[in-house]
Amino acid sequence: MKVAIVGGGPSGLYLAILLKRRQPDWSVSVIEQNSADSTFGFGVVLADSGLNRLQAADPQVFEHLIEKMNFNGVQTIEVQHHPIDIQHPAKGGAIARIDLLHVLQRTAQEAGVEVRFGVRIEHPDELTEHGLADADVVVGADGVNSVVRAAFENEFGTTKSFLTNHFAWYGTARVFTKSALVFREWRGGSFVAHYYPYSSSASTFVAECDDATWRTLGMQAMSNEQRQEVFEQVFASELDGQPLISNHSNWRQFPVTQNTHWSVGKHVLIGDAHTTAHFSIGSGTRIAMEDAIALADALTAPVAAGEPDQSALARLAHFAQTRGPAKDKLLNASRKSYLWYEHFGEWMRRYTPYGFIHAFMTRTGRLSEERLQQQYPELFAQFQREGLTHRALTDAEPLEAVHAR
Ligand SMILES: Cc1cc2nc3c(=O)[nH]c(=O)nc-3n(C[C@H](O)[C@H](O)[C@H](O)COP(=O)(O)OP(=O)(O)OC[C@H]3O[C@@H](n4cnc5c(N)ncnc54)[C@H](O)[C@@H]3O)c2cc1C
Repeated sequence: MKVAIVGGGPSGLYLAILLKRRQPDWSVSVIEQNSADSTFGFGVVLADSGLNRLQAADPQVFEHLIEKMNFNGVQTIEVQHHPIDIQHPAKGGAIARIDLLHVLQRTAQEAGVEVRFGVRIEHPDELTEHGLADADVVVGADGVNSVVRAAFENEFGTTKSFLTNHFAWYGTARVFTKSALVFREWRGGSFVAHYYPYSSSASTFVAECDDATWRTLGMQAMSNEQRQEVFEQVFASELDGQPLISNHSNWRQFPVTQNTHWSVGKHVLIGDAHTTAHFSIGSGTRIAMEDAIALADALTAPVAAGEPDQSALARLAHFAQTRGPAKDKLLNASRKSYLWYEHFGEWMRRYTPYGFIHAFMTRTGRLSEERLQQQYPELFAQFQREGLTHRALTDAEPLEAVHAR
């Protein structure tokens, strides 16, 4: 089989590794527009549940990633200048995106994958110029602005919309001791900083504000430097004099992209190219890598004795059937989470600090009261003292209505 993968991000490289390791005689090529040392963003969180799946899929890659990761089990959530530390049952891990890519690039090349850096295609037809026109499978692992998806948007059933909040992905040389979410009112605006350390010398800092703040404070007319300064002022005490660092840190509104179909003919989408997962659930990378695992499983599944080998197209259909339902659960959590964030200013003003944290932790519906009690006993006791338990559902429902306003 010949597989051409457009995009050498986490999903594309990981898929290439899994395929080439299982089928060394296959031709697996990755086309990546950037050089090996260039990427956007800073560190990303890889949650423990996702790490287990990576370990099962490829123990060696998992070990290399673990070596580069920074683990921390405590998260501070601060609202109305009231910081509350939360001890999570499992330590969350963060890794510099460039370290993640370097581990995957090296492993892919050692496995025999051909990775071509500095090659951008504008349309899958251009694969002809790279000797890949006869690929049996063309994978769009080319992220949120996928050209593979764009070429067949109608056939994939693509829908796109944008959230209203504004955000930018910064880093800082301030090495925080814990991860944190700081929700703050400043000059009548609603701001949130999501930050966490990912190495011994840097932390990620995602800056976000709602659309009312953006307009009221005139941020639409500011330069990116001025917007950065606003956040440096709002979160001056957290940054402790350190500036934010930009790496292609453009201000944007989060694009919600979805596709009814995973594949069109021999073209298949994985990762952000197929569906974007909101950064507030800290899982886009692992969901993208889990897409890669599912696609590798479908393409390399052994044929039962006496059965004819399946065509590549039949294997792609099987991938869609198996991966769709599992991914939908995570995307549903992402959707509930971003709907909650769209109104975080309202929640800041409405709730007490513990009420806010309760609403935050139960916003996706994935953490039931029972699990909350089991995994966060001290916090749960405080929720009970404040009469906050058994409110998760009543909070989640109005969100849809609020969003529709
Ligand atoms: C602010 C923010 C914070 C985030 N934090 C986290 C987090 O903590 N944890 C987490 O798990 N996820 C996080 N994510 C999400 C995560 O970054 C993405 O979900 C993940 O990168 C998706 O991987 P991918 O391989 O699908 O796409 P990408 O990482 O976007 O990779 C796509 C690759 O394709 C290449 N490419 C694109 N177009 C072409 C072309 N035409 N030709 C050749 N090459 C091309 C690109 O250069 C890129 O290397 C965050 C996202 C944002 C915006």
